[in-house]
Amino acid sequence: MQTIVIDPGHGGSRRIGGSSPNNAIGSNGTLEKTLTLDVALRLKPLLLDAGFDAVLTRETDVNRGLATRAHVARDRKASVFVSIHFNGFDGRVQGTETYIHSTAGKRSLELALLVQQSVRGATGLKDRGVKRASFGVLNAAEHHKQTAACLVEVSFLDVPAEATRLAKAAYRQAIAKALLAAIQTFLSAAKTAIRKPLPDATRHEPEDGYELTVRRDSENL
Ligand SMILES: [Zn+2]
Repeated sequence: MQTIVIDPGHGGSRRIGGSSPNNAIGSNGTLEKTLTLDVALRLKPLLLDAGFDAVLTRETDVNRGLATRAHVARDRKASVFVSIHFNGFDGRVQGTETYIHSTAGKRSLELALLVQQSVRGATGLKDRGVKRASFGVLNAAEHHKQTAACLVEVSFLDVPAEATRLAKAAYRQAIAKALLAAIQTFLSAAKTAIRKPLPDATRHEPEDGYELTVRRDSENL
């Protein structure tokens, strides 16, 4: 049975091992850490029903260090690791984007392209593409070599209309279903060795949001 590890970004009330307790905040007071956990808890039973072994790096409002999160996948030789985040910048930038590590290989890129396409289908927001960044939670040195790993920034929570939309359970469920679909497609494609030319990831841009801003300040996610 293939193991899928889902990492709900942030959590708790203090910084641990490079992981901040929370980054993005909605205009209605919704916290990123609450949404990442909600979507992950929706995704877990979908993965189990689909026949995967599904593990979350946290199931309650606690924080975990970035390497500790990666090690949950490494120790289980997970096929897939997806870290879920919501973004924030200046309240005006909007879109969906997915990251792979700066040193990530083809399998992580393939997973990220599928996650980006599927989640963007659920959000209907601007396609900000697949990008590379040195996020600690994606660091290859902390992961098993067979694990495809990516981090999705579902949408910018600090845009008021999006915070309102994210308050609806049906929307959060649709995001979870989109993540399931991407993971299923990735693993079935891998199984049948379907290979097509892949566009490469791009470098990140200045307006890419909190995760990168925080990283620049502190040298970690
Ligand atoms: Zn985040």
